[in-house]
Amino acid sequence: MRPGAFVATGVVALAVVALFAQDHSSMPRATAIGPALDEIRADDIAAHIGFLADDLLEGRGPSTRGGRLAAAYLATQLASLGYAPAGDHGTYFQDVAIVESVVDPSFTLAAGKGPSFTYLRDVVASSGLQEPRVSVDGELVFVGHGVVAPEYKWNDYAGIDMKGKVALIMVNDPPATADEPQLFAGRAMTYYGRWTYKYEEAARQGAAGAILIHTPESATYPWQVVQASWSGTLYSLPAASSEPALALRAWVTNDVAVEIVRRAGQDLDALRAAARRRGAPPQPLGVRVSATINQRVQRRTAQNVIGVLAGTNPKEGIIYSAHYDHLGMSEPKPGEQADADRIYNGAVDNASGVAGTLEVAQAFARAPTRARRSVYVMFPTAEESGLLGSAWFAAHPALPADAWAANINIDGLNLAGPAHDVVLLGAERSSIGDVASELAARHQRVVGPDPEPERGYFFRSDHFSLAKVGIPAVSAGESVDFIGKDPSFAKRMHDDYNERRYHQPSDEIQGDWNFEGAVQDMRLLAELGWRLANASTMPAYHPDEQFARLRRR
Ligand SMILES: [Zn+2]
Repeated sequence: MRPGAFVATGVVALAVVALFAQDHSSMPRATAIGPALDEIRADDIAAHIGFLADDLLEGRGPSTRGGRLAAAYLATQLASLGYAPAGDHGTYFQDVAIVESVVDPSFTLAAGKGPSFTYLRDVVASSGLQEPRVSVDGELVFVGHGVVAPEYKWNDYAGIDMKGKVALIMVNDPPATADEPQLFAGRAMTYYGRWTYKYEEAARQGAAGAILIHTPESATYPWQVVQASWSGTLYSLPAASSEPALALRAWVTNDVAVEIVRRAGQDLDALRAAARRRGAPPQPLGVRVSATINQRVQRRTAQNVIGVLAGTNPKEGIIYSAHYDHLGMSEPKPGEQADADRIYNGAVDNASGVAGTLEVAQAFARAPTRARRSVYVMFPTAEESGLLGSAWFAAHPALPADAWAANINIDGLNLAGPAHDVVLLGAERSSIGDVASELAARHQRVVGPDPEPERGYFFRSDHFSLAKVGIPAVSAGESVDFIGKDPSFAKRMHDDYNERRYHQPSDEIQGDWNFEGAVQDMRLLAELGWRLANASTMPAYHPDEQFARLRRR
């Protein structure tokens, strides 16, 4: 018997009841039939994970043999389900150009009068320019949090021309105040707080470089994490000549920032205190910063896999996404046993999400009718390298950005059993959340909020690449309320995975997986997509959302 069979029948029965109830609404009967939800099955999910997480695929690294095998498998699956190719030149594959760069550790940063700062100990650096040698020499300007947010009437770059200058920037959001408790979403992190935003905005301002000030509190992680993630091989998309790029992107420790500002005859804490309030002007520091980045640059190509089930109005679409890449294989380490497991199977991350998405794809393919909007299924590459495949797609989309009703991203399935809640990151930001909540209620479920909004998870998965061009997007997160389990169960499962398997070769298929929750979730997300693909109006971000503005642009 299939592990999910009993629950599955119950969900179908509920869905049928719901559909009859829905028939009295304005929705035309032809579209009320919906996706073939009983085609979403536990044994199919297990079978797809079984292939994708096999050692033969060698961790599915982008532009490796294992990665290409995974892509070929996904294209074959889409073809056999009746999806048309939606990649380059009539294929299922969209080439993604990836640049790998390794900064020479001889890098130093000079600022004002005094000794230069040392790579890794004091400073990490990379360049937005993909040339072997990049030099920067410019005046340093303290720009507070480096934020330009019209919806909060906040502009840290007011009245300054940053051309040729280097910005010194605090990470995280400007803090909410007693008068404005919802300033920058209160406790939650907005995208203005992310380090990626800081570099993007400084580049838009025309700056030559940007230096972020690391503190463990503002970054939410220690300096060692900055060191580890900014040394070794860095991955990026090719710099587009049409878009501004920073010659220097650096982080410094708090001690170094204090010292640089001291050399300018000022006090960093005083500058920071002033910058917490709206209207603090940028502060030119009167010291020059200079640095040269020597780097080894290599170019590779990896593939997104994309198929489409044409709707009756193919000019509009919805898109499901689930990244298929993982970390490949590790290099042998000195002293390591010869038979050590070096394959990052990524069974949960994200063979499971891909498997769930294939099942949703199948439910749409076997539906008795087509949805109004086209249903795209995309398996992005290079998510683990910094959301590169999805960013490439957002820059080269199959339909224009405003023709997409929604993105539903699936990064990891719930394999711990049936849950009362389904967490959709970003649901509260757009009208998708209301539709999802209504659907969930029909199944006696609830759409749970992001349990840790201060950590900015919404900005860390592929759907965010699409949100950044204004497409309403949600991403499946981890449930916290498991049926028949006490509240500590979710935390135990979460901690166990994070400590023992996340981004380790041990993220392998587990014998005790329970697929019932995954089947429930995928059926709900299939229904959600169906509703969004047929809705008479396009879903939209709430007007005060940062990403609503992007869409209007
Ligand atoms: Zn991952």
